[in-house]
Amino acid sequence: MKLFDTHAHINDHRFDNDRAEMIQACFEAGVEYILIPGVDRSTVEPSLALANEYDRIYAAVGTHPHESKDFTDDDYEYYKDLALHHHKVRAIGEIGLDYYYDFSDRITQREVFVRQLALAREVDLPIIIHDRDAHGDIMDILRNEGKGNWGIFHCYSGSWEMAKELVKMGYYISFAGPVVFPKSTKLKEVAQQVPLDRILIETDSPYLTPPPFRGRRNDPSKTQFIAEEIAALKGMDVEEFAAQTYENGKRVFGIQ
Ligand SMILES: [Zn+2]
Ligand SMILES: [Zn+2]
Repeated sequence: MKLFDTHAHINDHRFDNDRAEMIQACFEAGVEYILIPGVDRSTVEPSLALANEYDRIYAAVGTHPHESKDFTDDDYEYYKDLALHHHKVRAIGEIGLDYYYDFSDRITQREVFVRQLALAREVDLPIIIHDRDAHGDIMDILRNEGKGNWGIFHCYSGSWEMAKELVKMGYYISFAGPVVFPKSTKLKEVAQQVPLDRILIETDSPYLTPPPFRGRRNDPSKTQFIAEEIAALKGMDVEEFAAQTYENGKRVFGIQ
């Protein structure tokens, strides 16, 4: 099976003791590509070190809504320079709104999201959106200040109506561990309906470990469980489904 884990924080400190072995095991399990999203400026160097070391690891740069309160003009220029000049940087993210934790105040979250949408347009890269309990405001911002942006909705948790609109606007819908949880009936219905050429799969490692591994650290080798779940929902062969999402991942990140 050919897999693309389009969202994995493998630069996280929880992998410090066994990172090289973990990455090797993922490649052996069929994970061909991994994209490491940015969280803030401090996560960029460790993720680019991995992208420089491994051909099949790529990176995004950006400030997560949790960290928006610390976003500066200098960060904007730093991300812009990398987006334009580092060949492994293929997206701006993760960016967006998180109204569940509210680690940064909502006005600041919205301002920093809008600024990074402008950055993505300026460097002509896709965005990776983090949306937790903020569907309404995210959609309003994308419809207005986000004209001309496109990219990925990571760990999707919205409705089918919203997904339909996003697909029309040029977005890919990415599913993580929660689609495997038995209680996620609504989300399973959404995954079943999203067109095949717009679906991505991800682990969001080290978070969101899918069953049967819940409670343990997640890693990109678990991408196959997301593939198996959605392939079953769509009544498809899992190899065929995985191959399609793999091609989608290469297309959205411009990997030849
Ligand atoms: Zn996220
Ligand atoms: Zn993430």
